[in-house]
Amino acid sequence: MDPSADAFAARREQALAAISRAAARAGRDPGGIALLAVTKGHGPEAVRAAAAAGQRLFGENRVSEGAGKIEAVRQEWPELSWRLIGTLQANKAAAALQYFSALESLDRQRLVERLERLLAETGRRWPVLLEVNLGAESTKSGVAPGELEELAGAALAAPHLEVRGLMAVPPYHEDPERSRPYFRTLRELRDRMADRFGSKFSELSMGMSHDFEVAVEEGATEVRLGTALFGSRTAA
Ligand SMILES: *Cc1c(COP(=O)(O)O)cnc(C)c1O
Repeated sequence: MDPSADAFAARREQALAAISRAAARAGRDPGGIALLAVTKGHGPEAVRAAAAAGQRLFGENRVSEGAGKIEAVRQEWPELSWRLIGTLQANKAAAALQYFSALESLDRQRLVERLERLLAETGRRWPVLLEVNLGAESTKSGVAPGELEELAGAALAAPHLEVRGLMAVPPYHEDPERSRPYFRTLRELRDRMADRFGSKFSELSMGMSHDFEVAVEEGATEVRLGTALFGSRTAA
């Protein structure tokens, strides 16, 4: 795909229009749906093109890949905000805190403890989403739905973690309608957590390039788009 800023801007406008149409179908305000640009597999030039088109919110899967890109564009684009959307290894926790403004993939209690200890040293608070493994896929991270309440309780008890909601990557099917039941389940889990723990679970990060319109119809407050914005990734 053409990596130029103009070409990116056109693809971003198309994605935003599709989000608006899906929101309208569901009677939702499109202003309540954030577009996260996923730059994994693309270089700093993709970030620059996106930033020039007005994109401010970015996501990366891996701390080290993200850190390199963030460093590369930081001087030119200090206003960008970066969210970590892939599994966080304990030994990368300090680096993740340094580079990312939020974590969307909190999936285990050990990580809660580790992050809380690091954050307490500086008194900083860090927004987190809890990642749920909806399809019980062994290849994917995320907490099992049956263990979500326990993880939520632990995260909410950590004074320096700011629990904002839930994130999921459902099993892949080409037909986006097959993602719908998973998105609905995530929304129901979010509602259950909000009832149980209060209103801290407002965010629902769900939907990727092939199924984000269905995700918006089912209540996503953020969609995470890579391919739809930047084209296919070069094999790692
Ligand atoms: C890669 C990735 C995305 C973006 O995927 P596309 O299909 O390219 O839009 C979104 N979320 C997560 C967690 C990812 O790893």
